[in-house]
Amino acid sequence: MKDSTAIDQLVTERNWAGNYGYQAAKMAHPASIAELQDVVAGAGKVRALGSRHSFNDIADTAGTQVVLDRLDAGISIDVQAMNVSVSGGTRYGTLAAELQRHGFGLHNLASLPHISVAGAVATATHGSGDGNGNLATAVAALELVSADGTVVTARRGDPDFAGMVVGLGALGIVSRLTLDIEPSFEIAQSVFEGLDWGQVLESFDALTSSAYSVSLFTDWSGATVGQAWLKNRTDRAVLPAGLPEFFSGTPATQARHPLPGVSGSNCTQQLGVPGPWADRLAHFRMEFTPSKGDELQSEYLIPREHAVEAIRTMRRLSGVVTPLLLVGEIRTIAADELWLSPNYGRDGIGLHFTWRQDEPAVRAILPLLEAELAPFGARPHWGKLFHADAAGLAPLYPRFADFTALAGRLDPAGKFRNAFLDRTVFGR
Ligand SMILES: Cc1cc2nc3c(=O)[nH]c(=O)nc-3n(C[C@H](O)[C@H](O)[C@H](O)COP(=O)(O)OP(=O)(O)OC[C@H]3O[C@@H](n4cnc5c(N)ncnc54)[C@H](O)[C@@H]3O)c2cc1C
Repeated sequence: MKDSTAIDQLVTERNWAGNYGYQAAKMAHPASIAELQDVVAGAGKVRALGSRHSFNDIADTAGTQVVLDRLDAGISIDVQAMNVSVSGGTRYGTLAAELQRHGFGLHNLASLPHISVAGAVATATHGSGDGNGNLATAVAALELVSADGTVVTARRGDPDFAGMVVGLGALGIVSRLTLDIEPSFEIAQSVFEGLDWGQVLESFDALTSSAYSVSLFTDWSGATVGQAWLKNRTDRAVLPAGLPEFFSGTPATQARHPLPGVSGSNCTQQLGVPGPWADRLAHFRMEFTPSKGDELQSEYLIPREHAVEAIRTMRRLSGVVTPLLLVGEIRTIAADELWLSPNYGRDGIGLHFTWRQDEPAVRAILPLLEAELAPFGARPHWGKLFHADAAGLAPLYPRFADFTALAGRLDPAGKFRNAFLDRTVFGR
């Protein structure tokens, strides 16, 4: 291993939410691809760690965690191919600002810009929008350092590429990604409050197609939906500006935060003021703590045809769910073909839960929640808290066995395997 690779011994690091303490013995910060190759080739057990925004043990290892924070972002825009190449550890906020500066955009962002590109792609992180695939769907090519230290590249259309993108960190350390870009666009974001649940469920498709990206925030109880966040592309505006009412909800007159009682100043510009996609598509601003911080999260992806029934189920369960909840969110995501994407093969909705930070209580109701959502074919978000194991997840993913076979080929000794993967993917 090269001398310049920074190694932290006896890691006592925690994830962003603080609910998980990594068990890794070492943390390595390679400053070049050659150093990264040396670290991986020389390690017994090894995993990439992104910006630590996952809520479970997915990024942990018994060996060395590799952080790409010393690799240059190397953001390189190819105007002919309309894509951008970027180092895996780069945060979306950094990439978005640079793309915007050059007049380009990404199709979507998650609720927060703080997450690393490789970490978000590895778990199929998503934003919202009927026509918007998750963030991994923008990946046109990737480069990863595989178990023996060799660099493997794959591009869209290559055999196995669709299995490599949402890789859960199981296939190698993704050093660079190439993402599709488009010309920059503007978004005007408006928030409506107190939408009538009856109308929302009666015309759910009309509601979610009324803007480029729609999010509903709810605690599942009561007769109204707390907030609807509408991100309208000004070049394709569907809703007229200054609408006085939306599904019987009224426009917010000042900036709102999804969480009741929290200042809207942490959030991206609302009140219908148009501005660059990079400053509007996420809910939270890069300079502030996203969401609350003192929280846990779970999310289940449900096929579109079951959206209304699944939401009705959640409302029926509000007696057990709402007391543990800070807020819930409903988003829509377009289908894709990435093997372990929870959106594989189906348009769908995300039923998201931002929980109070009481992990024993949250873990206690997850089996009930999953049993109630099982008839709809619910697939859990890989980076959030869930109960299901490999035996429960395998039947939900038509290409599950192809993924484990691919992992076996790229990592025959199981160098990248950890307790999370053994529990939820490999089944031992
Ligand atoms: C406040 C908050 C808001 C969130 N909002 C959303 C949201 O809007 N939508 C959504 O879908 N999710 C959301 N999430 C979840 C989050 O996007 C995912 O957990 C995501 O994986 C976090 O990325 P990360 O860089 O922190 O990855 P980490 O949590 O550090 O790692 C996640 C996985 O990625 C792997 N990985 C990381 N880097 C690499 C690499 N270079 N090569 C290979 N594998 C790698 C790790 O090994 C691990 O398996 C949110 C989380 C928080 C805390």
